[in-house]
Amino acid sequence: MFVALDDTDSREGMCTTFLLTEIIRRSELDVIGFPQLVRLNPAIEYKTRGNGALVVNLAKGKGAQTVIGKLDGREIRSYPEVLEEPSVDALMELSRDAVMEFSELGSPDTNPGIVISGHRFPRELYRESVQGEVSIEHAENFIIENGGIFLKVKSGRGIIGAAAAISWPMLSTTYELLVYRYPKPERMEASLKESIARRCESIPGTFNNFDPHNRYAAIFPRERTPVVFGIRGVEYEPILEAVPELLKSLPIAHDRYLIFSTNQGSDDHIIHNPEKFTENCSYEATGHVEGLPRNIEGSHYFVGFRTEAGTIDLAAFEPTKEFRERFRDLKPDDELRVFGTYRRGTLNVEKMEVMSVSRIFVRSSPVCESCGNLMESRGHMDYRCRNCRRKEDLPRYRLQERALVPGKYDVPVIARRHISRPYELEKVAWKAGILNRVPL
Ligand code: ATP
Repeated sequence: MFVALDDTDSREGMCTTFLLTEIIRRSELDVIGFPQLVRLNPAIEYKTRGNGALVVNLAKGKGAQTVIGKLDGREIRSYPEVLEEPSVDALMELSRDAVMEFSELGSPDTNPGIVISGHRFPRELYRESVQGEVSIEHAENFIIENGGIFLKVKSGRGIIGAAAAISWPMLSTTYELLVYRYPKPERMEASLKESIARRCESIPGTFNNFDPHNRYAAIFPRERTPVVFGIRGVEYEPILEAVPELLKSLPIAHDRYLIFSTNQGSDDHIIHNPEKFTENCSYEATGHVEGLPRNIEGSHYFVGFRTEAGTIDLAAFEPTKEFRERFRDLKPDDELRVFGTYRRGTLNVEKMEVMSVSRIFVRSSPVCESCGNLMESRGHMDYRCRNCRRKEDLPRYRLQERALVPGKYDVPVIARRHISRPYELEKVAWKAGILNRVPL
């Protein structure tokens, strides 16, 4: 039985993934497959942090078991098949109780939703929710049409994410193991965070652990929630193998951990080759640079970009850090493939492939053919050699050396979105042969 939920947390606390662990713990059921953390449209205004929704298939399981976590000392087992389904009513009651007890209901922006279904939903709602915006009413109709049941608390906006999570077709999957300490982890020195993140780097197939250039330990959440840290990887085995030892050796307390399969690093939010750009949607677009990059206060950079869907601005904002150095080197007519979210006439670039750089010629004075000196300009079509008085009419043109070379450029780890697929990940995944590229 699939139980999904969303919108239980606020900036002050809680994390919907923790609430899901609580539902699993209270149910005393097995997990079929993996619990799932499904990221939706990263540009949606209602999100608290990473726009993540949760779903788990709970039942009595059968087949080969895998231990996928430990909740308050109890091992959580995953099975490939269902032996016996639980009662829908009992599961809804248990989920409602956990949501009412743990959600940040005092926050005006917390509007929990629970959805339960005996089967997965068709993928349309996932596509709509990861690439666009969906109304509560639309999600409600979709759940009813597909035979699910739901519970809305306050406005119940969370049913959108919850239903979309049940619709996730799992075309491109990675994993994240989350470690928890309820209600909040102890405060940690930056140096300790850095050393833990660096240790995670050595677990094969993991990504976005640490940003060495910006000394940023990306495994730790920015805000204080029950999450201590999370390790992302393209395979689950190396993470599950390494974590018990890692946790034992760390000087920080935890009370739970659980691994989720996720759509992180999938680029599922990207609409390819658009005919037009729509507010708060994310695109892959190819085109040519128009004009030179310009910067505004705060060290944000912009440049014009001509595509078949119209001319827009590309932006590299301050949080993209050293990526701006590459962006600043763009020149008119460079050919690019860019990925990013469109907002108010601007595409905020998440990654960029420079397909070709334009050839730029700069004018210079001729070199004197008699003595080899650089000639002086004396006005229009008049060059003279100081040494030997030789005269020439025409300037010379030379190809400017470009600082930017064709290639693929990621924003640094510190600026990456959960759902975006860094080029770097393609290399890891290519080796592991895991990620596929089936369009949604
Ligand atoms: P966290 O990642 O910490 O769990 P969050 O960033 O996921 O928090 P929520 O508090 O869950 O943020 O709020 C997101 C809200 O937006 C949810 O109610 C969800 O149902 C809704 N939502 C998600 N995607 C869409 C969409 N495409 N259109 C409309 N609403 C959406």
